[in-house]
Amino acid sequence: MIDYADARARVLDAAKPLPSETVTLAQALGRTLARDIAARESIPPFTKATMDGYAVRAEDTRPSSGPGGAGPVELAVLGDLPAGRPARKAVGPGQAVRIMTGAPLPSGADAVVMVEDTEAAGGIVKVRRGVRPGDNIGLAGEDLRKGEIALTRGTLIGPAETGMLAATGLARVRVTRRPKLAVIATGDEIVEPGERKRPGQIRNSNGPSLTALAVQAGAAASYLGIARDRSASLAAKLARAKHADILVLSGGVSVGDYDLVKAQLEAWGVKPVFWQVRIKPGKPVFFGLRGRQLVFGLPGNPTSAMVTFWLFVRPAVDRLLGRAAAGPPSAKAVLDREIVLKPGRAQFLRGVLTSDGPCLKVAPYGDQRSGVLRSMVRGRVLIVVPADAARLEAGREVEIIFMDGR
Ligand code: AMP
Ligand code: MG
Repeated sequence: MIDYADARARVLDAAKPLPSETVTLAQALGRTLARDIAARESIPPFTKATMDGYAVRAEDTRPSSGPGGAGPVELAVLGDLPAGRPARKAVGPGQAVRIMTGAPLPSGADAVVMVEDTEAAGGIVKVRRGVRPGDNIGLAGEDLRKGEIALTRGTLIGPAETGMLAATGLARVRVTRRPKLAVIATGDEIVEPGERKRPGQIRNSNGPSLTALAVQAGAAASYLGIARDRSASLAAKLARAKHADILVLSGGVSVGDYDLVKAQLEAWGVKPVFWQVRIKPGKPVFFGLRGRQLVFGLPGNPTSAMVTFWLFVRPAVDRLLGRAAAGPPSAKAVLDREIVLKPGRAQFLRGVLTSDGPCLKVAPYGDQRSGVLRSMVRGRVLIVVPADAARLEAGREVEIIFMDGR
């Protein structure tokens, strides 16, 4: 039996980033960048108007410099400049160009007067309110300069990253291959949802919940169904998982008479790395390697299965995906009520978050038994309780691990 930190370190140590592949921008959501992305052009590529109005030399718009002293200044309008065309005419002293948002600023001009602050008559525009250099314009490269690193390797591609990749002109992008993750549920008593349930049978919730966790983590997940608690049945399922990068089984890893998973995995060629970790829930968790394949035997209790996926499988998926951060995000919160526990194992209590002004508060969900799936539905975080803690008083700061996607 080993400690949580040690077990997690061994998983991370065995999990290496997969090779990369090229995908279109539309396929890139949820993938991880395999290379740094440098801006191939400046964004924006030219200095532009950010308001509809008149491109001017700011100094010409100050009333004192106008011909009439105070009052609106009058400028000669050279022409119209819509977005999408280069600026041909330079703006000289006493001149202006009618300009639309997004159009390149003509040379000579250093600001834009908003149309709302003007009055046009013939070839003349009256400027009612002066501007300063830089007003209502966006400078070339103010978002990103050409050659600057826009996104770094290991970044998870979300909607904003997709926009940034598009802005740099990339239609295709190099990402880490998705890990193939196979899920096998085990047990003589479990039956798939939708199928007829006989006396003594229960629904298979782990197959679907673990597959969902795998999909959410960004893996290419396949669910291989239920293996019965017999060597031949398990062996037949394992044969179908040969090419998975990660194999996740649920159930059959405890010390019961029908807990065959560990022995069967070893017979299949899996070298054990650890079995049993000082954590609650999830103590019987097994981890081993079959060549480069990572094999996890998770306990069958629905909560234990999900929590151990979250604690061990998720960081492994992140690593294989080449993500800069491995594992679920954590934070600090203030305990809402006292927790009294038996020390000896690190505990991961399903917690319910509330916010109290600027402060996050967390309370453990009522029923922490590992068969109670409802605690996973209600509790969106895990409260981390160190192995040596017997009592955590209310008001104390604790570590929490978020269980909502990424
Ligand atoms: P095991 O780890 O196989 O000893 O199972 C522990 C508990 O989890 C038992 O009560 C099982 O019936 C239950 N269990 C095992 N597999 C599943 C599953 N796929 N879905 C829901 N419950 C399960
Ligand atoms: Mg079982």
